[in-house]
Amino acid sequence: MRQTNISVFVPHIGCPHRCTFCDQRTISGEAHAPTPEEVERTLCDQLPSLRARGIKAEIAFFGGSFTGIDRTYMTALLDTANAFVQSAPDVYTGIRCSTRPDLIDDDILDILCSRGMTAVELGAQSMNDEVLKLNERGHSSADVERASSLIKARGLSLGLQMMTGLYGDRPEYCIETARRFISLGADTVRIYPTVILAGTKLGELYKSGEYRTFSEETTVNLCAGLLRMFDEAGIPVIRLGLHASRDVEEKMLGGVYHPALRELCESRIFYEDMLADMQCRGDCRKFIVYTDPSNISKVVGQKKENKVRLHENGFDFIIKTEKGTRLRIENAF
Ligand code: SF4
Repeated sequence: MRQTNISVFVPHIGCPHRCTFCDQRTISGEAHAPTPEEVERTLCDQLPSLRARGIKAEIAFFGGSFTGIDRTYMTALLDTANAFVQSAPDVYTGIRCSTRPDLIDDDILDILCSRGMTAVELGAQSMNDEVLKLNERGHSSADVERASSLIKARGLSLGLQMMTGLYGDRPEYCIETARRFISLGADTVRIYPTVILAGTKLGELYKSGEYRTFSEETTVNLCAGLLRMFDEAGIPVIRLGLHASRDVEEKMLGGVYHPALRELCESRIFYEDMLADMQCRGDCRKFIVYTDPSNISKVVGQKKENKVRLHENGFDFIIKTEKGTRLRIENAF
């Protein structure tokens, strides 16, 4: 059974802040606040085709700080979504939203839970208080901890979102953020390397030369490590990198934005695993790498990067497919 999100973007309207990196209009590609009637129409239109294809969907209110928008408007959106969860539970399995950690308390959770909410994602961005302050987030890591435990206490799925390469950030801070997410019991994680957009404070800092984000190489290494950490903790990373968008491409001044970023990071993990394995095999320099056909491009790497790098380390390999195998290496002679 496939699972998807029907995303409803509720832009900036709920947010009294102006974080250094944020231009919600560009990120979501949407500035219009959807009416409950429009949401109803979308869910109604999608229903027959989702049902025919056997796809289940969560209704996802993303794009801003959902729990900070006007209460009447928020409950109207939730009531509309919940009516579909109640009347078509074979397709619409629940409701999720994204919000700020300081916009979660027991009152708001009462409202969300009484209207079918199943998952809340917090834009934590970093668990380093200095990074949060420099990027004018207006909340602390303690707010993330408090909100996370309130969400978990309600039995809701907890999603935590982090960014890498913010103003003042360091790779080791990101690794510490991931550790804290794991100990908070995150059920899902999203990782967004910073994209510097025109019209934001980061854009100004970047243009003045006061701020440089991580390079693509640093980001790929870092995010490969983060994927590994979350995987070992059994936490799905449901998104790595911003969705492709013409708006972002047009307004981007710098940062890491690659349509296949996740593939690059997963490929880096294969490289690290192959190198570690090959280095443990005495004098052997030629290997047969067995892997499932779906992994071949990640084993080889973009532009054969893994092959080239291993060659530089004195190793060579050929690939043989083996269904269901992630990685198995044999000496070639
Ligand atoms: S809290 Fe979220 S929506 Fe508000 S300015 Fe910051 S990133 Fe943008």
